[in-house]
Amino acid sequence: MTEVTEPLPRFRRVLLKMSGEALMGDRGFGHDPSTLNRLAEEVRSVHAQGVEQCLVIGGGNMVRGDQYVANGIERTTGDYMGMLATVINALAVQSVLEQAGLQTRVLSAIPMASVCEPYIRRRAMRHMEKGRVVICAGGTGNPFFTTDTAAALRAAELGCDALLKGTKVDGVYSADPMKHPQAVRFDRLTYHEVLAKDLKVMDASAISLARESAIPIIVFSLRSAGALMRVLRGDGPHTMITEAAPGAQEVRS
Ligand code: UDP
Repeated sequence: MTEVTEPLPRFRRVLLKMSGEALMGDRGFGHDPSTLNRLAEEVRSVHAQGVEQCLVIGGGNMVRGDQYVANGIERTTGDYMGMLATVINALAVQSVLEQAGLQTRVLSAIPMASVCEPYIRRRAMRHMEKGRVVICAGGTGNPFFTTDTAAALRAAELGCDALLKGTKVDGVYSADPMKHPQAVRFDRLTYHEVLAKDLKVMDASAISLARESAIPIIVFSLRSAGALMRVLRGDGPHTMITEAAPGAQEVRS
């Protein structure tokens, strides 16, 4: 693949949020090796353009805390299990990123001295300044939250220019496009519209946090090769969520 040498003008530092499910590919659980390798290539090519990156990875490919309640496990315990799942995912992603030639650090909100570094904001910033990709693990470190909220929190405190949410679908739709083929994709939305229409893109606390720090959220699909680079250039299908979206449009996918 030919590298584009022009620097990306729009973003200096970005946070990429991926759900645990995004690592599964078409499997029902765990990790799909080719999906992990493709992800590493996406991150590598953006890194080659000088964009600093931090990653927040979910744990839904292994554990979602609330789903364990039905098995008789206390909700908070289930949530801690979910946060541990995010650490497992972070280690898997770290491994493939390093095989792709990147320098990385995993920083966990739940200290785990023999596995990774503890999350320390200034240390995370320093790693990125030195060209390392920072993988923030352990969510927020607190039960009853999600890794979407962790992503908005880290994006805000680490001074990211955008929160990129890589999903299975290429933006925010008026309804679940898997179930409703007539659903329309929004090109642009405001934070307020996402909250008022109760669009299932990120939880309300994540949207509010991003709004407070004026961090644009860009929702796109990570399924096609080069998607991350395209979206950073403003190309390819995606939904941009900001404070004001004059002439907000709905576009058919
Ligand atoms: N979790 C939590 N606090 C956090 C982040 C995550 O308790 O700050 C737990 C929660 O149980 C959640 C699980 O970790 O269900 C996995 O995270 P999430 O559902 O956000 O993963 P994703 O859907 O992005 O894969």
